[in-house]
Amino acid sequence: MTTPVPPPASPQRRFKALVIGSGAGGAPAATALAEAWGEGVALLEAGPHLHARDFTQVEREMVPRLYAQGGVQGTEDGVLSLLQARTVGGSTVINDALCFRPPPELDARWKALGAHIDTAALAPFVDRVEEVLQVREIRRDQINRANYLVGLGAARLGWHGERLRHNSVGCVQCGFRHLGCAYDAKQSMNLSFVPRAQAAGAQLLPEVEVHHLERRGGAWVALTSQGAFAAEHVVLCAGVVQTPTILLRSGIAAGDGVQVHVQTVAWGDFDDPVDGFNGIPMAYGVLEFADIYGHTGPGYLIEGVAVQPLGFSVQPQLEGLGHDEVLGRYRHLSGAVSLVRSASRGRITLKDDRPAITYPLVEADLQRLAHFYDRATELYLAAGASRVLLAHRHVGWVDRVTPVPTMDPGTFYVYTAHPFGGAGRGLVTDEVGRVPGQPGLWVLDGSAVPEAIGVNPQVTIAALALEGAARLIADA
Ligand SMILES: Cc1cc2nc3c(=O)[nH]c(=O)nc-3n(C[C@H](O)[C@H](O)[C@H](O)COP(=O)(O)OP(=O)(O)OC[C@H]3O[C@@H](n4cnc5c(N)ncnc54)[C@H](O)[C@@H]3O)c2cc1C
Repeated sequence: MTTPVPPPASPQRRFKALVIGSGAGGAPAATALAEAWGEGVALLEAGPHLHARDFTQVEREMVPRLYAQGGVQGTEDGVLSLLQARTVGGSTVINDALCFRPPPELDARWKALGAHIDTAALAPFVDRVEEVLQVREIRRDQINRANYLVGLGAARLGWHGERLRHNSVGCVQCGFRHLGCAYDAKQSMNLSFVPRAQAAGAQLLPEVEVHHLERRGGAWVALTSQGAFAAEHVVLCAGVVQTPTILLRSGIAAGDGVQVHVQTVAWGDFDDPVDGFNGIPMAYGVLEFADIYGHTGPGYLIEGVAVQPLGFSVQPQLEGLGHDEVLGRYRHLSGAVSLVRSASRGRITLKDDRPAITYPLVEADLQRLAHFYDRATELYLAAGASRVLLAHRHVGWVDRVTPVPTMDPGTFYVYTAHPFGGAGRGLVTDEVGRVPGQPGLWVLDGSAVPEAIGVNPQVTIAALALEGAARLIADA
């Protein structure tokens, strides 16, 4: 490969540490390292550094600008769409701001995978993340009607559910969390840890895309879209698709063991307008079917969800139903999404120097998705919906719990906003994030997380990055 050499992004080319990627893992890691090493730290980020004024709230402008591969990233077979961001702050810029503490069940599960997490010892790092992100419970008066209806259905069925916690102080409830916060309210990494890293001396270098790493003369050299940068330590935090890609291009084995939260949707149709696009899109969660925090269900969360019209229009891919008829009910629909803690395992490989993602869904996941469709139908009918729209091609509207005829992949809409692994602890790294045999090379992002954890992951990823950076500093 010939490395392009455009004008330098920084006159400084040699650092003590390079952190690659500024999302949920990279921004906290860079902060911790900069607090120890000041100007010796550079934070390299492929995407642009955008600000509140850039977030126009126009989907056709912001999705191509903010999302990896313009929003169409997915598996090779086209079955699973995989959402990530490419901007300073990473996917936290487009995320729903929900915050969960790492479930204690991770301790035993990770041990079985040869990885390490001690959720009790991690607690001080979680506390720091929650303090910086200003995490708090979503207030009762901030629950929009769409999420209220999810809570109402769950309450009528006696299912365990709760208002969730978020990191958006002073939220104006505009409904555009997926397009970047235009009000500087959501404390995504670009507004929380990245400025802290900079204040401690780290140099933020946006629009610097790392292609691969080379080991030269006892140091790491990152070959990037803006030339070469060298450092003693490299912390890879480019996210689940790109971290393994960089490792593979660098001749380091990676890419196996990807796991995701498998997400599909169901929509309750109500006589009165619900207007779910207005207000906080995701605010209420049902834990009845989870297998974490002491629950013993089949292993998924249900969360209220709302999307803006363009995002909604791609979800129901229905045979025999007019798309316009479905879109015509948009204002009347309340959405619920599954977060299935998948049992499948996928892979990232290199194809013509680009990442190729495969994620064959196993039977256990298909069964849990079908279980979700049934329970979501039950929930909405209990809440007073006249019918429920399932994002399943052969089903569409149902007015009673109707087992879906097939769960063949491709017959239903499925996506993930929560990928994990590909450079997992216990597989590609040692049990805490060092890459064995590669001195000074660490992985501290979602790709190091060895399994689908069962809850929205930003707080867990950030806390693990802080903990890992503390170990790196102690090692150095
Ligand atoms: C739509 C959506 C909603 C979500 N909602 C929630 C939620 O409510 N709560 C929650 O906890 N989690 C949520 N998540 C998930 C959460 O945001 C991610 O799990 C988390 O941000 C992943 O952290 P990361 O550091 O692994 O990757 P990212 O945050 O994606 O950061 C990776 C960074 O690396 C950069 N990068 C990639 N390749 C390169 C390269 N070659 N060179 C340099 N830089 C590179 C990217 O541009 C990006 O900035 C959501 C995600 C999405 C997409």
